[in-house]
Amino acid sequence: MRDRTLCVKRPEVSHEGFASLATPTYRASTIVFDSAEAYANRSKRGPDGYTYGLHGTPTSRTLEASITALEQGLRTVLVPSGQAAITVVFLSVLMPGDTVLIPDSAYPPVASFCENYLKPRGISYRIYDPMIGAGIADLIDDSVKLIWTESPGSTTMEIQDIPAIVAAAKARGVLTGCDNTWATPLYFKPLAHDVDFSSMALTKYVGGHSDLLMGSIAVKDMALHKKLKDTMRMIGMGVSPDDCALALRGMETMGVRLAHSGRVALDFAKRMASRLPQGLVLHPALSGAAGHAFFQRDFSGGSGVFSVVIPAHAETALPDLLTAAQTFSIGASWGGTHSLLAPMTITRVTDPAAHSGTILRINIGLEDENDLWADLEPIVEAVAAAPPVARTA
Ligand SMILES: *Cc1c(COP(=O)(O)O)cnc(C)c1O
Repeated sequence: MRDRTLCVKRPEVSHEGFASLATPTYRASTIVFDSAEAYANRSKRGPDGYTYGLHGTPTSRTLEASITALEQGLRTVLVPSGQAAITVVFLSVLMPGDTVLIPDSAYPPVASFCENYLKPRGISYRIYDPMIGAGIADLIDDSVKLIWTESPGSTTMEIQDIPAIVAAAKARGVLTGCDNTWATPLYFKPLAHDVDFSSMALTKYVGGHSDLLMGSIAVKDMALHKKLKDTMRMIGMGVSPDDCALALRGMETMGVRLAHSGRVALDFAKRMASRLPQGLVLHPALSGAAGHAFFQRDFSGGSGVFSVVIPAHAETALPDLLTAAQTFSIGASWGGTHSLLAPMTITRVTDPAAHSGTILRINIGLEDENDLWADLEPIVEAVAAAPPVARTA
């Protein structure tokens, strides 16, 4: 071979005796084949075969398999964000004329997707009260093909009665999905409750370091896996092996990060609840929280995100208190090592009176808890100070 060929063709080196604990990052667009026949038959390689870098590499398959094992599923697909994990499910199972039911507590871009993308294409949606439970049966007509859940709900933290919703859906042959980002499969396993699609924003706890965006959808049915893969192939969606390697690294410490953040978050939530009127601190482990009984029944733990309703009298003081925080940063997204404060404005369709003001979302990271509490204390004082006007939680 001549020099310019030698620059391109790699010599074989031995892998013998090389055993590393790290998952190699396999980068690829092209996948090469041993023969013209193998290339011609590449579409017959099945759900786990390799055909093109976009559709999977050993690195992405390793992450998929790790999530599948935790979710107690059959297969997992990886998509470029947590939002994409939701939209790919919707796009895979909904056709013009169909309806999807979404909870009022869903991650807000879900309703935007339904209103601004699905509706103009003839797919309807209805927003339901997250605490509806078995009452969801009344909303199921022949057009309903998917019921989406998110438990606990974004910012407002309601735990849904997933078994009751799944039972009502199954009775009518309707598919169900659950956004499991907060609990992760360490603390709640949607597929074990017969949910069809369990999605996660890996961006949050699996990535765990605020530096990657990815989503996962786990299923326990090969036909649903094929539907998801077909959608992804049609729209040209895949994930970077480098991001998969970061997610695999993040996942190794997820158990201890969650245990720590969950303990500190619950401790802070209890401390705050002891000083504030009932209903202002939103954490599913507090008695009186929306869906607390379902949390105790279905979850094996809680992670590090909870919220505090900011009453009107404390709303003007809040921006300065947030800016003054020394250890917390101000920002959305969560699940990383840095603690975050994010003031959220919530609007409710099913009950406009509920949650009509500012809610402060608190993400507990890995900093010293005394430093964190020093930032939270003045906020608690401001909320506790003036005559409190409790809002319904
Ligand atoms: C952040 C989040 C998402 C979206 O994840 P991205 O990767 O940021 O798109 C979806 N669902 C929940 C519950 C989230 O918190």
